[in-house]
Amino acid sequence: MNKKLIIFDMDGTVYLGANLIDGALDAFDYLKKNNIEYVFFTNNSSHDLEFYEKKVKNFGIECSLEHNFYSSTEVTIGYLKDRNIKNIYVIGNKCLKDKLKKHFTLIDKYSENEEVDAVVAGFSTELVYQELKDACLYLETRDIPLIATNGDYRCPIEDGLYIPDCGGMCEWIRLCTGKTATVLGKPNPEIIYYLAKQFNVSLDEVLVVGDRLYTDILVGVNAKVDSLCVLSGESSLEDVKSYPHKPTYILKSIKELPDLLGK
Ligand SMILES: [Mg+2]
Repeated sequence: MNKKLIIFDMDGTVYLGANLIDGALDAFDYLKKNNIEYVFFTNNSSHDLEFYEKKVKNFGIECSLEHNFYSSTEVTIGYLKDRNIKNIYVIGNKCLKDKLKKHFTLIDKYSENEEVDAVVAGFSTELVYQELKDACLYLETRDIPLIATNGDYRCPIEDGLYIPDCGGMCEWIRLCTGKTATVLGKPNPEIIYYLAKQFNVSLDEVLVVGDRLYTDILVGVNAKVDSLCVLSGESSLEDVKSYPHKPTYILKSIKELPDLLGK
């Protein structure tokens, strides 16, 4: 298989909560030795990339912040800039707001005469009702879009449990305002095109690897690149079989990745 860039999901793919997936170190060693580039992409906008870099590095995987880590926050900044959006109302964690503040004017509460170009929603573990209310009021009173860093309905935590994520929050807003979010991050194919360009590889040299069907696998399908579903996280083989979009490959975990790439 002639792959030059592998785009990894993290939780459920490389590690499960605090535990590295068995065989992961050997898999990354194989990539290094064979000059196959790898990046970690997360839809999660509730943490800084530094958080992920530290976590992945601590597992013993060779990586650097500048070269190997991307999130839906970076995709969102690019999207807003491309559209010349300047004033935004944001629902999200402090780290998302701090990042956005460097590029845009953040409006801090609802006001009738405020100029707002878009409402931006991220995965917020610091959500308060007032934010939802202000976001809805802006969307109801202006012809402006709701832009979401990601569409995941829920986020896995330990012991097979889940907490509400950005997609779930956007559903709440949709039911109130009638406005459906433009969802960035996976499965929006933009991120794949962006990374392929960044690493100067063609789309058929890209492999996207993850455990979640409606983000990790669907982004591969949408971008028309090969995808690998690992069964070490959220999806079972039954889930894969009943999902309308099929991954190109299915493996138990990334432990088997070198064998697949060596074929
Ligand atoms: Mg995952």
